[in-house]
Amino acid sequence: MKIKKGDTVLIIAGKDRGKKGKVLHAFPKEGKVSVEGANLLKKHISPQEQKQQQKGKKKTGQIVEFPAPVSISNVKLNCPKCGKSTRVSKTKEGRVCKKCNQKI
Ligand SMILES: [Zn+2]
Repeated sequence: MKIKKGDTVLIIAGKDRGKKGKVLHAFPKEGKVSVEGANLLKKHISPQEQKQQQKGKKKTGQIVEFPAPVSISNVKLNCPKCGKSTRVSKTKEGRVCKKCNQKI
């Protein structure tokens, strides 16, 4: 995968087009990444599940938002060296920015 956890990416397709965010998780098998603040889905946590997670702080259910994975073809890497969103090429040495030709 050309994009990995901790990278900053730009969303180039879908409802969150134009948003930038940090990659929280990479799913190499699926070719997907989850990006902070992008493609948010709401999930309802039942009181029972919550009880297991945080020992019975609240008795009501809660709705949490979490970023659903997006296909890496829908994101572009934001180069930390030149600050531009770019396609990267993979070389023996690692990833190279196509805009500034620096290793990233
Ligand atoms: Zn660059």
